[in-house]
Amino acid sequence: MAQFDVAVIGLGAMGSAALATLARRGARVLGIERFAPGHDNGSSHGGTRIIRLGYFEHPSYVPLLRRTYELWRELEAASGKRLMHITGIAEIGPPDGEVIAGTLRASRQHGLPHEVLDAAETMRRFPAYRVPADYVGVFQPDGGYLAVEPAIEAQLALAKAAGAEIHTGTAVRRVTPHAGGIRIETDRGSFEAGTAVVAAGAWVKQLLPELPVALRVTRQVMAWFEPIDAAPFADGRFPVFLLESTHGVHYGFPPDGGGRVKIAKHHGRNEPVDPDRVDREISAADEALIRPALADHIPAANGTLAEAKTCLYTVTPDHDFIIDRMPGAPNVIVASPCSGHGFKFAPVLGEVLADIAMDGRTRHDISRFALARFG
Ligand SMILES: Cc1cc2nc3c(=O)[nH]c(=O)nc-3n(C[C@H](O)[C@H](O)[C@H](O)COP(=O)(O)OP(=O)(O)OC[C@H]3O[C@@H](n4cnc5c(N)ncnc54)[C@H](O)[C@@H]3O)c2cc1C
Repeated sequence: MAQFDVAVIGLGAMGSAALATLARRGARVLGIERFAPGHDNGSSHGGTRIIRLGYFEHPSYVPLLRRTYELWRELEAASGKRLMHITGIAEIGPPDGEVIAGTLRASRQHGLPHEVLDAAETMRRFPAYRVPADYVGVFQPDGGYLAVEPAIEAQLALAKAAGAEIHTGTAVRRVTPHAGGIRIETDRGSFEAGTAVVAAGAWVKQLLPELPVALRVTRQVMAWFEPIDAAPFADGRFPVFLLESTHGVHYGFPPDGGGRVKIAKHHGRNEPVDPDRVDREISAADEALIRPALADHIPAANGTLAEAKTCLYTVTPDHDFIIDRMPGAPNVIVASPCSGHGFKFAPVLGEVLADIAMDGRTRHDISRFALARFG
């Protein structure tokens, strides 16, 4: 018999959630992570991630989102930590842009609470913005943000308390299916498991080179600005936001404890990088991805750049996720990549992965994430 029922490789957002769910359901689980949990080499660091319900990317994500909100609340209760901060979300842009049109489509299809504001009303409610007269705002009261590193820490603590064995500072070299299960070779020895969940994020192709799809790992930059004028950011007047403009799609967060607002450009420069050779220095070109949008649309945020960090997206050709078994190796489950919008889904994807690994199926509709869509 294998040492473990399931081995989870990579303990970022997805892996830590899968490990916790599996362990709490009584599986004998092993979690392996190359770095220290919460590290900033992958995709799950930088303090905050947006969560929202009316999903512009596609309405079919909404049932998963409903469940993920429930599971975030359960995780808060189980860990005793506040991980989800509901601020509402202001989505602003041209009415026919992907953000507004997509959000309205998802919200109307699923009967989600939302308000549609014209440009003048948007600027009155959210005084930090300057937008053209033909833009609209959609306010969703359920939007908010998640505390990233504490969430991973909470998942791993619950996993450990439920009996998971966790090896950090341990790099997996090879995942080999064989008749009796899966052999996992690491730089610190080998393990045997019945099933492997590969949640290696930007490194998934290194472990599963036969994954039949081209992935783009791209370097992203998140930046924290000191507002020139703090007033329009005070008292809940600057909830999390998505802003689509001629400068692209930008998103950001209410002021942090130091009054700084974190803002980034979705997809950034969209240049592919090797995840092992990412330029972590922040350049003037990085800043230039954000400044013009601030100058034109959020001028009070266009102050001193206090801090900036790089991060990685791992993007599929259609920007949907991949959650599936490997072709020809059904006991290897791929739990990456999440195309730059996966963090909010971590608890529900943890549930899905545990379902597949333990029961062979899940009640959630994950047909959108199947590898077969790539032919
Ligand atoms: C700047 C930025 C902003 C984002 N904003 C949002 C947002 O607002 N809302 C949202 O929902 N999502 C957002 N996302 C996306 C979200 O953060 C990611 O989809 C999610 O964090 C990916 O989690 P993961 O577990 O797949 O990858 P990771 O968290 O990177 O985890 C993969 C782990 O696998 C480990 N690993 C890799 N190879 C090996 C190996 N060989 N051996 C052992 N361990 C290995 C890595 O070290 C890493 O810890 C954002 C992403 C970025 C970069």
